Amino acid sequence: MQGPLIDTLVRQGVSRRTFLKYCATLASMMALPPTAGRAMAEALAAARRPSVIWLPFQECTGCTESMTRSHSPTLEGMIFDMVSLDYHETLMAAAGHQAEDALHAAMKDNAGKYLLIVDGSVPLGIDGAYSCIAGRTNVDLLKEAAAGAAAIVAMGSCAAFGGIPKAKPNPTGAVAISDIVKDKPIVNVPGCPPIPVVMTGVLAHYLTFGRLPDLDDKLRPTAFYGETIHDRCYRRPFYDQGKFARTFDDEGARRGWCLFELGCKGPVTHNACATTKWNGGTSWPVESGHGCLGCSEPDFWDAGGFYKALSMPADPLKMGTAAAAVGAVAGVAVSVANRAKKHRAQASHETTTLADLEK
Ligand code: SF4
Ligand code: SF4
Repeated sequence: MQGPLIDTLVRQGVSRRTFLKYCATLASMMALPPTAGRAMAEALAAARRPSVIWLPFQECTGCTESMTRSHSPTLEGMIFDMVSLDYHETLMAAAGHQAEDALHAAMKDNAGKYLLIVDGSVPLGIDGAYSCIAGRTNVDLLKEAAAGAAAIVAMGSCAAFGGIPKAKPNPTGAVAISDIVKDKPIVNVPGCPPIPVVMTGVLAHYLTFGRLPDLDDKLRPTAFYGETIHDRCYRRPFYDQGKFARTFDDEGARRGWCLFELGCKGPVTHNACATTKWNGGTSWPVESGHGCLGCSEPDFWDAGGFYKALSMPADPLKMGTAAAAVGAVAGVAVSVANRAKKHRAQASHETTTLADLEK
């Protein structure tokens, strides 16, 4: 553990006002009561910087890119400075034996107390030899590092669910962190990559309350993954009216209509993109005219069909309902409205998965 966090922030010129604003925003995003912002600020200011060990396994470094992509002074950067990042291959200056020494020193000095962050999946094929660091397999390293960790953050869809490395035919035998570690608290922060403020929000929660946030049945923090993209999408009124873009350059696309028929997976994807947006709140995929790919759901790559609408009959007459028949006679507008109704029914069915709807 390092000195109180507030010392670090003051040294970096972060004003009290900026810090309070950040905490209020974070508390709001986590749906905490209004008073929680100040409580969070006080707890964070007094918090000692915990040791964080970040292990990269089968990954593309996109999660680290996302975490560090920031503008100055950044909310993400503030949180990044709130921890003592004792090992991170990509970001640390040390290399080779020096880096490995730093890893072992951090694990020894902070045994039982450090936060372990992992990005990337773990290959189990040919005894784990597909991915090694300093001559040791990922699975071996994970087991050792997890044993001394207070909690584990599986950062990104690869660590959370196996991600792209696990996609068929999964040549390396990739698995998720939770498939290997069974005796430690784990929080999944999926996304390809995850949203920076979601990553830092999870860390801030841990620093403030000393525990992981509330999780859903896929170990995702409900504060950020409790709703679907579709629940909070600004194009939702068009969906409800049955107004869909049919191509990326038709009149509907120009008018900003719903992207469902262009393959948007927002109705079955739990993530915070529609509210936090990306790049400092500048925009997000749907706002840029492209449907959600479902990157924060398990098996999103194998589910595929990125430009195929979720389970929609090609011919309205095949919908088998009187309303569809009326739609076929009365014109496209009515049939599309009935499709929207069907889509809404599908979207509200909580047990429906992305893979189910792609069948
Ligand atoms: S289907 Fe996609 S574009 Fe349409 S409202 Fe839902 S999330 Fe938004
Ligand atoms: S909009 Fe969908 S695919 Fe794009 S980053 Fe968000 S959850 Fe992932």
